[in-house]
Amino acid sequence: MLLIRCPWCGARDHTEFTYGGAGALERPAAGAPLAAWSDFVYLRDNPRGRHVELWHHGTSCRRWIEVVRDTLTHEIVATAPAEARAASSPDRAAGPAFHARAPKDGGAP
Ligand SMILES: [Zn+2]
Repeated sequence: MLLIRCPWCGARDHTEFTYGGAGALERPAAGAPLAAWSDFVYLRDNPRGRHVELWHHGTSCRRWIEVVRDTLTHEIVATAPAEARAASSPDRAAGPAFHARAPKDGGAP
């Protein structure tokens, strides 16, 4: 069992959260070459050690958080609101990468 400290709700069991992918991805600029978009969508690092991840606290506050987790020990090293990272990067001012995904119903993103 992992305990993830939500910045709003406190320490909670990891089963209350949904993994949302790598947290350090940088979205390509509009008009970037197709290869850059392909890499953004399909290529992921598989780091050994500390890794920044996005998790969604769907059973409580329903907010996204960034989690620094050690992939060898599963230790949760740090957590922070995902909004803080998005606000600090002009390239991500519209939100973290997970907001950019197209909805499953095929509607406009
Ligand atoms: Zn929460």
